[in-house]
Amino acid sequence: VIARATRAGYMRLMLDRASNSSPLPPEIARRRTFAIISHPDAGKTTLTEKFLLYGGAIQMAGQVRAKGEARRTRSDFMQMEKDRGISVSASAMSFDFDGHRFNLVDTPGHSDFSEDTYRTLTAVDAAIMVIDGAKGVESQTQKLFEVCRMRDLPILTFCNKMDRESRETFEIIDEIQENLAIDVTPASWPIGVGRDFIGSYDILNDRLELMERGDRNKRAESIKIKGLDDPKLAEHVPAHLLEQLREEVEMARELLPTFDRQAFLDGTMTPIWFGSAINSFGVKDLMDGIAKFGPEPQPQSASPRHVSPDETTVAGFVFKVQANMDPKHRDRVAFVRLASGHFKRGMKLTHVRSKKPMAISNPVLFLASDRELAEEAWAGDIIGIPNHGQLRIGDTLTEGEAIKVTGIPSFAPELLQNVRAGDPMKAKHLEKALMQFAEEGAAKVFKPMLASGFIVGVVGQLQFEVLASRIELEYGLPVRFEPSQFTSARWVTGPKDKVDAFVNANKGHMAADNDGDMVYLTRLQWDIDRIERDYPDLKLSATKEMM
Ligand code: GDP
Repeated sequence: VIARATRAGYMRLMLDRASNSSPLPPEIARRRTFAIISHPDAGKTTLTEKFLLYGGAIQMAGQVRAKGEARRTRSDFMQMEKDRGISVSASAMSFDFDGHRFNLVDTPGHSDFSEDTYRTLTAVDAAIMVIDGAKGVESQTQKLFEVCRMRDLPILTFCNKMDRESRETFEIIDEIQENLAIDVTPASWPIGVGRDFIGSYDILNDRLELMERGDRNKRAESIKIKGLDDPKLAEHVPAHLLEQLREEVEMARELLPTFDRQAFLDGTMTPIWFGSAINSFGVKDLMDGIAKFGPEPQPQSASPRHVSPDETTVAGFVFKVQANMDPKHRDRVAFVRLASGHFKRGMKLTHVRSKKPMAISNPVLFLASDRELAEEAWAGDIIGIPNHGQLRIGDTLTEGEAIKVTGIPSFAPELLQNVRAGDPMKAKHLEKALMQFAEEGAAKVFKPMLASGFIVGVVGQLQFEVLASRIELEYGLPVRFEPSQFTSARWVTGPKDKVDAFVNANKGHMAADNDGDMVYLTRLQWDIDRIERDYPDLKLSATKEMM
């Protein structure tokens, strides 16, 4: 029996190795980098607070919001976020839990910020999907889920607010399976609903978890149980709930798939936990789940070759740029996901796009308590690199090798509008603000060759409002967005003489983006078709390669 067990263990190890090329060094293997996806109001902020509480990063839950408030006064552009109850900026936070280093990357919540969200999800290895037990799968959850699916991200599901009237457990699971086309396996099973909700049965570990209603920050009491027939259960669970629990779990075991780690890692199966974030209930079990099953840092797709996390040299890529986090310094912070190696402060890395060396002397690690200098970081971590605009989304940093990460999407601007400064004397300030947002990837900015002013291109209507709000708050400059005569933008590339000839013949339609690259603007698809026919040497693209 022992020989067989050892053999099974060995086989598993070999399979792990086969799928992961080589076992990771412990420092890297213990890292978990993930995001939370949810519909607004499902409980993402509350869950984040409890993570940090258990991660020892904050003393009392409630500080994320309190800190958020403080940050908002420092960085006013978040006024928008406050007014509309949406989260505009994404940040990353690190904390330790049970021997693991958790890196939680926050995703902006609103659908109009899908660009940012897509890019954020390129920096994580897994996602937690939070749903409201009474509402089930909501529109925004569905959209974000689809993004995760495109990357085959493993997903852990947390069904929140079980302390309130919620749907039947089977109904919730069914809805997820139906709407998201993913297998769902219960990691825990709720006992009672609403007022009668007393806790859950931890199916994966045969434990009874009882919710503490008196103290919202207290962890649930965990009682080891020898299966559902254990007489100990009756000591803690009222008879009618116990009977229901036994029936339902038995049914679940018959009807639903059992947990399969490989299916989870492949993104085809999600384990679901039932809890109540505000009561700290179910949070620890979810964290245990991430620690135990959550993927280690994964290889990064890049050209000309993939980057494996256990490579000894450092490689990382910028997935987000945020400016004015601290208005005192008009700096920007590039969020870098380390794809490989062991980074140490002061390292000189090569900025692959410009081929220039960069001394990374003041990298920031986003510890939940505050920004802190990162003395070291490993593959899987997110570090912030303050800079003056050299670092752009999609940029790669290496120890010299010319590698370029791939898979960071660029989006075709779908809505174009003219932007004007309320005060024409301040046109220069407007230009500066627009250039900054273009570099952050918050919008596309075009300067027409013949007309004055700027045209801004975005993916969602709300982005115009966010931009107007940020320009006013950060630059003290009221602006107006107005309809543009153009509806489509195409980057024009090809042999230089051909591009020049084309530009000269179409000046009224031409504009330069923030890099000075040529863009053709029109409102007619017919124009685009005609150019493609008449200028076979030119390439018209709706998106610009992130370079
Ligand atoms: P977010 O928009 O997803 O970040 O959601 P929040 O974390 O801000 O939560 C939205 C609302 O739901 C807040 O009023 C929370 O206090 C409340 N809430 C969060 N978790 C729970 C829970 O487990 N039970 C109940 N009853 N309310 C909760």
